[in-house]
Amino acid sequence: MLELPLDKATVKKVGNHQYYVFPAPSTHSNQTNRPPKYADSALLKPYTGAGSNGIAQLLPGDVHAAANAMMTALRCYGDAIDDWSMKSAVIQNGYRADNEAQGRNYLRIIKKTIKEHPDVFGALEFPGSLEQDAQSVLGRPGDPRRTAFHQKVAAAPGWDAKLAAALFRLVDSVYTPRGTNPHATGLVFDLDFTIFDGGRGERKLGAEPSLNALALRSAAGMWLNRYSMMFGFDSYDTSKEIWHQEFRSPKTGDGSPEAIALLNCCRSAPD
Ligand SMILES: [Zn+2]
Repeated sequence: MLELPLDKATVKKVGNHQYYVFPAPSTHSNQTNRPPKYADSALLKPYTGAGSNGIAQLLPGDVHAAANAMMTALRCYGDAIDDWSMKSAVIQNGYRADNEAQGRNYLRIIKKTIKEHPDVFGALEFPGSLEQDAQSVLGRPGDPRRTAFHQKVAAAPGWDAKLAAALFRLVDSVYTPRGTNPHATGLVFDLDFTIFDGGRGERKLGAEPSLNALALRSAAGMWLNRYSMMFGFDSYDTSKEIWHQEFRSPKTGDGSPEAIALLNCCRSAPD
């Protein structure tokens, strides 16, 4: 079984839910073998393994077995230590198309980010004349369409290059514009789980970036930060979104189909 240092954790209780709360762990980013191609949506299959919510869709192939192995091991350890973050963990969503909804969300998150940082942006608002641009296909960092958009924001009344750079540093660490959507590859999912909420009770993560620090200190977050690579998954940056897991399709070593088959994480010991 893939274990956690329970002796370092504090135990919290909300009703009959028990949570281990750990000291903040060290985090990592991982850009290696991120899924490169958008999926053909006609090929998608609902994920039906351990921790399925019946909705998430993934491409057929190794990702389903790897996800099932990881969720089985995670939830099983959660049962063994009686931790609600792990026992409540599900694969919340998988494939999401790169479409108008993504553009609308990107604009929404830009506006929200400006509001949430009055120390940086003061009373500035996002320029209304650039709302269409924000929702358009902008591509990856360095794409000329994206660079031109940033320059238009910098040139808008009240804005400058420094403010525009600060805005997109914040926004792009939590959401991508159209043209770059890891979830459109069909090899990526977000987990959801319930965490102890610093004295105010408990709450579901709902992929809310401001909850990542708390999520990392939960048993489910600690476990993913440490062990997801053994099942072929990793976040692009666990300090940003520990719940966001991308299948790196390893053929050998940790996370390969052979390595996963050998894990047998939840085989109960005879006693
Ligand atoms: Zn995600």
